Amino acid sequence: MTDEAATRELLVELLGEFWRRGWVSGTGGGICGPADGGGLLLAPSAVHKERVRTDEFFTVDPSDGRVLRSPDRADLRPSECNSIFCLTHRTFGAWSVVHSHALSAVLAGDAVAADGADHLAIRDLEMLKGIPGVTNTDVHLVPVIRNTPREPELVRQLEAAYADPRFRAARAVLVRDHGAYIWGADVLEAKRHTEVYHFLFEATVARRGRKVEERT
Ligand SMILES: [Zn+2]
Repeated sequence: MTDEAATRELLVELLGEFWRRGWVSGTGGGICGPADGGGLLLAPSAVHKERVRTDEFFTVDPSDGRVLRSPDRADLRPSECNSIFCLTHRTFGAWSVVHSHALSAVLAGDAVAADGADHLAIRDLEMLKGIPGVTNTDVHLVPVIRNTPREPELVRQLEAAYADPRFRAARAVLVRDHGAYIWGADVLEAKRHTEVYHFLFEATVARRGRKVEERT
């Protein structure tokens, strides 16, 4: 099996896993991974993510998001995340990016909005060690950006967040009222970061809820 064939199978497997966990449900969310020859494999837009097949990915040029190869099915369109995945690849060398519509990501964004902050501060969790260069004694900052009517319109805010030195260790950005983008050097690293960050979001939101209950 070629590297790309294996990647296509892995992406399909992960879309199914992430769908079962409620992270890419209702046709939302997405994923990309490396294609042979330097392109990015991109899941199609507005389809049931747990039903995507290995021959339904687009191949795009990460330098400009241009579609290099389309699947045979003419009704498919490349993911709305195309420009964001390409930007994330160009900025960090990430060969895989996950877009999550998880409830925990939305609730984590709510917590930040209530504080009037532009980031989520995560602390005192062993799981922080799952992020490269981060220890369980660090306060880990994840940027939070505002939602826009269309996904490609997020690019400008993402560029600012990616360039902000406060967020150098982050491998994720939260989008308020929407979800998160989470990336890694390869597909399995992106998978690990996706699992780690969802745990961190869930733990931070649950602890915050407990504190509010204790005060009332
Ligand atoms: Zn989305």
